[in-house]
Amino acid sequence: MEKVVVIRFGELFLKGKNRDYFESLLIRNIKSALRGVQFTFERSQGRYFVEKFAEDDLGEVIERLKKVFGIHSLSVADKVAVRWEEDFPEIRARLAAAARKIAESADGKIPFRVTVKRADKRIPMTSAQIAAALGGTVLSLGAFKVDLTGYDCDFKVDIRENGVALVYTDVIPGAGGLPVGCSGRGMLLLSGGIDSPVAAYMMAKRGMKIFAVHFASPPYTSDKAREKVVELRDLVSRYAGDIRLFVVPFTDIQLAIHKHCPANYMITIMRRFMMRIACLLADAHDCGALITGESLGQVASQTVESMTCTGDTASLPVFRPLIGMDKEEIMDIAKKIGTYETSIQPYEDCCTVFLPKSPVIHPSLEAVRKAESALAVDELVRAALAAAEECR
Ligand code: ATP
Ligand code: MG
Repeated sequence: MEKVVVIRFGELFLKGKNRDYFESLLIRNIKSALRGVQFTFERSQGRYFVEKFAEDDLGEVIERLKKVFGIHSLSVADKVAVRWEEDFPEIRARLAAAARKIAESADGKIPFRVTVKRADKRIPMTSAQIAAALGGTVLSLGAFKVDLTGYDCDFKVDIRENGVALVYTDVIPGAGGLPVGCSGRGMLLLSGGIDSPVAAYMMAKRGMKIFAVHFASPPYTSDKAREKVVELRDLVSRYAGDIRLFVVPFTDIQLAIHKHCPANYMITIMRRFMMRIACLLADAHDCGALITGESLGQVASQTVESMTCTGDTASLPVFRPLIGMDKEEIMDIAKKIGTYETSIQPYEDCCTVFLPKSPVIHPSLEAVRKAESALAVDELVRAALAAAEECR
């Protein structure tokens, strides 16, 4: 039997005059998430329908759509003929089959209702009358009782204009959030760790289109470390859509800091360089903000004073969506979105190279600026940026 995926989107963001814009982004993102799959797309009565895909692709279609932000929920429907003049034989047969299956794994009478939507106005019955008539089929099985408000099971029947109906019961939660692209662009500082991929996911969920920059320190960091970052980018892309990733060589900057600045300021000054370079890259790609995976107090470089010192060099707002989260909570999201296993692979990160024994935990801005004044900052930044490479 032909299956149709019904897509419902969040109502809230669709109110007001931005509706068309949001919808066009959402439709574009849905189509791009289904790249490589054959299907047709329809929009009707405030919902979308993905149809005519190969039977074997159903699982894949659902998996991909579950990751598209802006989708509130999904259902897999059976497409059947309406034939109202003959009392809906196909619809009744589908309802009975679905109901029998549900009854198999339940004891006691299952409270249910039937919800009918009717686009075909030729049918001389109201939606409520049709629902009551079809409910009789479910009731006749003996395992159900009608309960319009306290139902456990909602049999949905959408009668469309073209003589077909969609019949379904399950509602699969969607990813929620806003369609990627509706909240501008952000430049993510993507390390190989657990946190920054989660930060990207969170901002993409609020509609931000993500670009990413990774700082690598060859030969101290390996190709494997870089491949890991590319893999994390690809994993997050399943939610965030395409993410352009730039890799910036950071070794010369680290060597210069190591040579000319006090060891305990190493991390703080490194981060200041990362912010500067990320801001320039952000400007070049029309990003209005930076995004990091910082969480307050997690490590020495994530105290209020440290973030004041690093934020000092950023000319754009720095979004830190994990700031108030515990590591456990961050790890749970990483597991849910499928980045955790890749993140915990043990490859060197540029920050672990030249790691000082005792980094300052509460650096003062004045002292950091002074420590940094030994460096040719602009020149180092320019050279690193000039050597940036895009990773496909
Ligand atoms: P993560 O799990 O994201 O690596 P972390 O807990 O290891 O975070 P830090 O190493 O202090 O924390 O990094 C804080 C943030 O700085 C990261 O979340 C990331 O946004 C950014 N960052 C750190 N290292 C790099 C890097 N090599 N390239 C790009 N961004 C980085
Ligand atoms: Mg890290």
